[in-house]
Amino acid sequence: MFTKRIYNFSAGPSMLPEPVLAQAASELLNFGGTGTSVMEMSHRSKDFLAIFEETKALLKQTMNIPESHEPLFLQGGAWMQFSMIPMNLIGKSGKADYAVTGSFSGLAMKEAQKYGDIHVAASSADENHTYIPRQGDLKLRPDASYFHYCSNNTIFGTEWDYVPETGDVPLVADMSSNILSKPVDVAKFGLIYAGAQKNMAPAGLTVVIIDKSLLGYELPYTPTMLSYKVQVEADSMHNTPSTYNIYMLGLVLKWIQGQGGLGGMAKYNEEKAKVLYDYLDESTLFKACARPEARSMMNVTFVTGDENLDEAFAKEAAAKGLTNLKGHRSVGGMRASIYNAMPKEGLEALVAFMKEFETKNR
Ligand code: PMP
Repeated sequence: MFTKRIYNFSAGPSMLPEPVLAQAASELLNFGGTGTSVMEMSHRSKDFLAIFEETKALLKQTMNIPESHEPLFLQGGAWMQFSMIPMNLIGKSGKADYAVTGSFSGLAMKEAQKYGDIHVAASSADENHTYIPRQGDLKLRPDASYFHYCSNNTIFGTEWDYVPETGDVPLVADMSSNILSKPVDVAKFGLIYAGAQKNMAPAGLTVVIIDKSLLGYELPYTPTMLSYKVQVEADSMHNTPSTYNIYMLGLVLKWIQGQGGLGGMAKYNEEKAKVLYDYLDESTLFKACARPEARSMMNVTFVTGDENLDEAFAKEAAAKGLTNLKGHRSVGGMRASIYNAMPKEGLEALVAFMKEFETKNR
C-alpha cells in the first residue's frame, strides 16, 4: 500500500504529469461549467469540437507540423498502423523497405509482408539489437513506396540518433516511445505514428501525422476505417473517436508547452537519462545493455549478469515504490522507462536504491 504517488517505470501505459492528472480530476464532473464530464459529451457537440480543435492546434504548434501534413486521432494502437501503413502506402510500387532494430520494427515488417514485396534495409539482430545501423548501412531501394523504421526501440532501449536520409522515398516512423520527447523536423517524414500511452495520453488513442500527398494509393480492399484518406476527409471522425483521450492529450500538450516545449523537454530528458547512465557506467554490478551512441533517452535497459539478482532487484525496488523495472519478458534484465512525465527525482531515487543494492550484493 502506498499513501503517495510512486515512481512508475512502466514502458506503457506509463506515468502522466501530475498537474495534468490534477486538472483532469478537477474537471471530471463538470468541465468548464458545461455541467458534464468530457467523457459524456457527444463527439459532435460544440463543447467537444472546441476541445478537439484546441488539441489539434496544440499538437501542430508543439511539433511544428507543416500545412502539408495532417494529424489524425485514431484507435487500434501502433499495432494497427503496422497493417494500415502498407495497406495505404504500398500501392505506389508494391515494394517497401524496413529497418529492423528491435521487436516492434520486426513485427511491423512481418505484418507488411502480407501486402507486398518487403525488403530488410538493415537489421541490428546480429548484436541483439544493441546498436543502430548507420546511414551508410541502409540498403535502400529507390523504387520503394516507403521506408519504415522505429525511432526508439522500447524493448531494447536504443534510439536512432539521426533521421535517415531516403531521397524521394517517403520516410515512415514508429515514434510510439519517443514522440514529444524532443524536437523533430516533421517535414522530413511521410508519416509519423505513435500509440499515445507513453508520452501523450492514456491508452486508446493513436496519433498519425501524414503528408497529404501520400493519400490515394490504398489497396482496393482497404477497410473504410483503415483508410487514411477517409480519416483525413472526416477529420478523424468517421466514427466516434477516443474523445476523453484527445482531451487528455490537450492537457499534456499544454503541460509540455509550460516545460519550454519540445526543446525544454529534450534538455530535461537528457539530464534525467544522464543520472542513470552515468551511474551504470561506474557501477561494478549493473551494466547498460545498449552501446553508448545508441542509448535511448526514454527506455534504459541494464543487467547485473545474474538472472536471480535481476529478479530480486526488480522485486525489492517495487516494494520501495520504484515499480515496473523488470525488463520485457522477451529479453529479461531490467528496463527503466523514463518518459516525459517521469521527474528527475524518480531517477535520483532509483540510483540511490541501485547503490544500496550494489553495496549489499557486491
Ligand atoms: N511500437 C513501439 C515502439 C512500441 O513501444 C509499442 C508498444 N510498446 C508498439 C509499437 C505497439 O503499440 P500498441 O500497444 O499501441 O499497439
